[in-house]
Amino acid sequence: ARRYRLDRFISQHSRFNRKDIRLLLAQQRILIDGVAASSINQVVDGFNRIELDGQVLADTQPLYIMLNKPVDVVTAVKDDEHQTVMDLIDHPHRDSLHHAGRLDLNTSGLLLLTNDGRFSRLLTHPDYHICKRYLVTLADPVTDEYTRVFQQGIYFAYEDTITRPAELEILSPYQCIMTLTEGRYHQVKRMFGYFRNRVTALHRLSMGSLALDSKLLPGQWRELTANELKGLH
Ligand code: URA
Repeated sequence: ARRYRLDRFISQHSRFNRKDIRLLLAQQRILIDGVAASSINQVVDGFNRIELDGQVLADTQPLYIMLNKPVDVVTAVKDDEHQTVMDLIDHPHRDSLHHAGRLDLNTSGLLLLTNDGRFSRLLTHPDYHICKRYLVTLADPVTDEYTRVFQQGIYFAYEDTITRPAELEILSPYQCIMTLTEGRYHQVKRMFGYFRNRVTALHRLSMGSLALDSKLLPGQWRELTANELKGLH
């Protein structure tokens, strides 16, 4: 997302000009993420929610997109080495977008992109335990013991925490569906790593009530419907 000094952002997105800003600040009429702004030098971007007199100032109309992320595309706005998810979005307002959550380079499936900073912060907030379902393909057979251990949780030394209960639905010896309610770094791969079993393919099927549209081929996207959006809040 583009970054702006606060006074430039306000002048570009409201009827006020840059000379008005000091007065607006003094009158506490500008809120950044719910807190009254105090400096024109503050830098803001699409991850921030900027309000002026109670009205949200967005770069553009709020936009919510689901992408079927292919493998070998990086979840980032810019990357020197790989194609990014933004490169796949041929929408006139794609420069206003950022990703709400993240998938690894070699993970495919449902990824959300938006220019609504409040939405993406809600979705990625550690206390918002939305269910994320993944189709997991493994190098070695999976057993019922996995189900029990994942339900109990696994100790992650780096974070010094125990993973929240995760559900496992075994489809075949090498394939299962895993449901997580949190999103730690490489979480699925690390949980199977506990059994020294390697994830050979990982595909996100859904987030909460929102399922990846099966009509979307890898690399294709569409906007969320109003009903889909409502289900995520
Ligand atoms: N868990 C992982 O290991 N990778 C992802 O991309 C998502 C969940």
